[in-house]
Amino acid sequence: MADLLLRQARLALEQVAGPDPVDILIRSGLIAALAPSLTVAEMDIPSLDLGGRLVLPGLVEGHIHLDKALTRDRVLNRSGTLAEAIRCNLTLSSKVSEEDIVERATATALWALRCGTTMLRTHVNVDPQIELRGLHALLRVRERLRPLLDIEIVALPNRLLGEQGRRGRELLAAALEEGADAIGGTPLVEEDQRGLIDEVFRLARRYGCPLDLHIDESESPADFVLPYLAERTLQEGYEGRVVAGHCCSLAAVDDATAARTIELVARARIAVATLPATNLYLQGRRDRQPIRRGITRVKELLAAGVTVFCGSDNIKDMFNPFGSPDLLQMAQLLGYVAQMGSPEEQRWLLESITTQAATALGRQAGLGVGEPADLVVLDCQRREDILSDLPARLYVIKRGRIVWSALGTGFDALVQEAR
Ligand SMILES: [Zn+2]
Repeated sequence: MADLLLRQARLALEQVAGPDPVDILIRSGLIAALAPSLTVAEMDIPSLDLGGRLVLPGLVEGHIHLDKALTRDRVLNRSGTLAEAIRCNLTLSSKVSEEDIVERATATALWALRCGTTMLRTHVNVDPQIELRGLHALLRVRERLRPLLDIEIVALPNRLLGEQGRRGRELLAAALEEGADAIGGTPLVEEDQRGLIDEVFRLARRYGCPLDLHIDESESPADFVLPYLAERTLQEGYEGRVVAGHCCSLAAVDDATAARTIELVARARIAVATLPATNLYLQGRRDRQPIRRGITRVKELLAAGVTVFCGSDNIKDMFNPFGSPDLLQMAQLLGYVAQMGSPEEQRWLLESITTQAATALGRQAGLGVGEPADLVVLDCQRREDILSDLPARLYVIKRGRIVWSALGTGFDALVQEAR
């Protein structure tokens, strides 16, 4: 039994059938066939004629913080620095309730879904201030939204080392036992940054889970532990299982050091998350002019074959009072700030929020036969207009089922209408 037939769809990434529209047949939640004009035996298959509109794989959010989203007005970050943002977050964490987090995280995840996101990885703070309330909230949100989008959870500790980190270590272990998928961490908050990296590797080995760290979120060459992370990844045999978020300092070190580091990162198959909105807002706060932008060396990483993806990071919180889970908007912003606008670069920008992000998360995404039917239909016919126009997302499809439509109709009514 087929789930859905999309007629006259233009593929925004693959060139399977050239630039002309194709029909996409979806069976059992997967793309079953693609051809210019498909003949389908079933008479009653729900179908939609897209009239040559573009289809992208469902967008993949590889780095967001659902637990602190929409808290901008609760605790004000007056200096706009990363240090004050971290302090504000600890203040908020000590009093926030699980219900409050469920409400804000659900609203933000649904906002992401309406923008075309069908899979997301969220970090959640796990520390003596918030204990496991954030984790418990996000486990509930993941369960509630399971039919609509996939959610992965990274447990994000604060301090882990020494006596000061004892409770943090206990909570992180509990979070992993209760369902967190990966270990996060921010070496910058510890005096011994390398010690923190050693500690998270020890825990990752024990729990057999991947690592996803906030690395070098600083414009200072003094805060540069990416080479150490890459060396440890190789020593531990953890190639392909580590994500390094931010990597701002890579842009602050000299070219020769950067080249050596990028070569190591490529060898360790570390995926790099670039988070342009938060970096632009927080980095370079002590600079006069020119103010450094804090964006990592995207083009050089790509040239070395590193998997790089673009994420939203903070949504209307103390780290970024703006922020949006609209990944097309983030890819457009990255195009500006990393100065990438050629047709090839625009294609990569789209991959950075779909296939590249999925690869970094060890997931699958694409528009080929056999890929999951997680798709987003754009109200746009020309690929080169996507990142300039940021078109409406007409339909969002998860595992072959329309889970959201800009036309304002629910799944059942929509299918009825399409028959
Ligand atoms: Zn982050």
